[in-house]
Amino acid sequence: MSDQMGSLKYKRVLLKLSGEALGGGEKGIIHPDRLERFASEIKEAAERGVEVAVVVGGGNIFRGRTADELKIPKETGDHMGMLATMLNALALQSALENLGVKTRVMSAIEMHRIAEPYIQRRAERHLEKGRVVIFGAGTGNPHFTTDTAAVLRGAEIKADIVMKATNVNGVFEKDPKHHPDARRFTRLSFDEAINRQLNVMDSTALALSRDRKLPILVFSLSEPGNITKALLGEDDGTLVSCDEVCLLV
Ligand code: UDP
Repeated sequence: MSDQMGSLKYKRVLLKLSGEALGGGEKGIIHPDRLERFASEIKEAAERGVEVAVVVGGGNIFRGRTADELKIPKETGDHMGMLATMLNALALQSALENLGVKTRVMSAIEMHRIAEPYIQRRAERHLEKGRVVIFGAGTGNPHFTTDTAAVLRGAEIKADIVMKATNVNGVFEKDPKHHPDARRFTRLSFDEAINRQLNVMDSTALALSRDRKLPILVFSLSEPGNITKALLGEDDGTLVSCDEVCLLV
């Protein structure tokens, strides 16, 4: 195990999984196959020695931006969105536990009967003990996103990198769905991503990553095995970092 751990590219990773990625479509809010697949891919990397923390989104259930349409105040909508992330966090915890993985869910909004409150030092201890830590309820504050929560928690637990799983294999110069000729970045600086308003993460999350010098890997979920590959440092998505590089393919 120690030899393997010595060869790991990243010791501690913060993985951001959107709610949408878990979404079940006709199967309901959570797709059973996706849930199981994500859990087994995380398990594989964790067993090979990567310390894995996960921030889950809630977009498959509720997003704050729909509050207006429902005549719900913005902040209440955001509270609903943060509670939605807890449903996903608990589902992922169970899926991991079904595979024998030790986990903890830590919530940014206190709900003692369901999850531990988020305490930075305690989160680090869990990771050191090899537990997969799932952070729910975003940052605990309205007006933020789970992307920002991912960078914030990533910085707090001193992760080597934040990995954002998406439907496409990295960051493109324009939307590849509408522009099949769009080129993909392999490397990108934070400044470039911010100035060009590229679809990496929202600007709050990006600015925080830049300030904390915390790189972000954007990679695709579409191929089975990609989460494990990314966590083991073997994925070729887009790496966004402080380096002044900009490489397109
Ligand atoms: N949210 C929030 N503060 C946070 C994180 C999330 O208010 O720190 C709310 C916000 O309304 C958001 C919803 O929770 O729309 C779900 O999170 P997000 O949209 O980031 O989930 P994802 O798109 O990753 O599934």
